[in-house]
Amino acid sequence: MFVLVLLPVILAADEIRVVFPNQPQRREALRTFFRGNVEYLNGRELAAVFSVNTYVNDEVNKLVLHFRDGEVKITAFSSFVVVDERTFQLPLPTYFDGKEYYLPARAILSVMGATVLPGARYDEARRTFIGPAVDAAFNIYAASIESKQNGTLIRVKTSQEFDTRNIVRYITDNGWLVVQVPGGLVDTLALNHSILGGIIRRARGRQLEKSAELRFKLTDKVSLPEVYQVNGAAELHIAIRNPARRKNDRTKELRERWYLDTIVIDPGHGGIDGGTVGKGGLKEKVVTLDVALRLGRLIKRKLNMKVVYTRDEDVFVPLWQRSKIANEAGGKLFISIHVNGSPNRGAHGFETYLLAPAKTQEAIEVARLENSVIALEESDHAYQEFSDEALILSTMAQSAWMKEGEALAAMIQEKLSQYLDAPNRGVKQAEFYVLIGASMPNVLIEIGFITNRIEEKKLGQNEYRQRIANGLFDAIVLFKQKYEGTMLVEQGK
Ligand SMILES: [Zn+2]
Repeated sequence: MFVLVLLPVILAADEIRVVFPNQPQRREALRTFFRGNVEYLNGRELAAVFSVNTYVNDEVNKLVLHFRDGEVKITAFSSFVVVDERTFQLPLPTYFDGKEYYLPARAILSVMGATVLPGARYDEARRTFIGPAVDAAFNIYAASIESKQNGTLIRVKTSQEFDTRNIVRYITDNGWLVVQVPGGLVDTLALNHSILGGIIRRARGRQLEKSAELRFKLTDKVSLPEVYQVNGAAELHIAIRNPARRKNDRTKELRERWYLDTIVIDPGHGGIDGGTVGKGGLKEKVVTLDVALRLGRLIKRKLNMKVVYTRDEDVFVPLWQRSKIANEAGGKLFISIHVNGSPNRGAHGFETYLLAPAKTQEAIEVARLENSVIALEESDHAYQEFSDEALILSTMAQSAWMKEGEALAAMIQEKLSQYLDAPNRGVKQAEFYVLIGASMPNVLIEIGFITNRIEEKKLGQNEYRQRIANGLFDAIVLFKQKYEGTMLVEQGK
């Protein structure tokens, strides 16, 4: 188009600061461009600062900015801007370089302040655009999504800092990435109008009682993303990596499957879920994590085996996510570590559980206690009811592992009794949610009673915790020796 080539070049020259009254930490800038002595703003950059979607109609050279409070329609080389049904005349026409739309800066900012950004105004002396007073009822706003070479980055605007360790994230079966931010108050309208890109097809916000839930529809299967806080309080970043290439050597994969090369250690509870607390104040979540880390260190040091923790710090991880982590890591053994509690203060000793219909009232009580964490999980993840039917299905699904699970449980009880001066309460069966869904031999160990005064004291000691880890380690070594070769043959049938 020759006419455009002849027009003078437009150059980035300066910038206008953008501040938001209720978000002192949030600072943005708009680049400005000069043609002659008129200052312009780039339409798309304007949209990005306010996290609104844009639509370009190449046929008629129109750019539309979808603000929450209305649409701004801009036409190339026209001085008329239409906001919803109202037409505003700018002192000068817009400029179009064949790709980008440029708007006379001062005029477009004042139109926006009067329409789609109510209350916003341009302070010319300070070259600062004071954005609309964001509703202080919220602390999470829109997201902008960027496609990167190795994945997709979701940048969520926030006005306060969140503890990312407590953020729950998971991917639903129908491809939604769900991120729950405890303490978050999400401006759902803003989030729903986020700028999309990468593998994100839709963004949806939902306010839960204690968390903000941010949902992103994915177009591709990916693994769980990392979430981190950047720029102080201004943004939450969710980094999604591109899916790794599929292994095409199926035979090798199958052959490797039955070798004990990866162990998943699941320290019970964590974060807002402290587990059972002793009279002396000792928390179950602290003991389980420490024993898990001690066991993991032993395995890494002495066996040629990969150790995957469902958590390795004091964070909340939903039960269902724990077995998911185990499955995704290709775990060959799943060991869940817990500390027991009982209204009977005299109860003490250690016991190991298998997932199966509970046989005694006592076992049902233990399972009820460990499963109660589900009440803390704010999600619509469908927990199966522990109806007989669901239980039969889930036990059938892993009946392939029952024999190995039983053997491992017996070995654990035997080895722990060699290390601990406490009663061996035996192998038991109960319906633990965390064990459902783990497609590998799995056990849940109650290493002692925190409700027993003497055992609480022992569980608080490093030396005692190390002895527990040693016992568990010996049992794993024994299990590995006995089952590593034979499982291949049996499963191959
Ligand atoms: Zn527990």
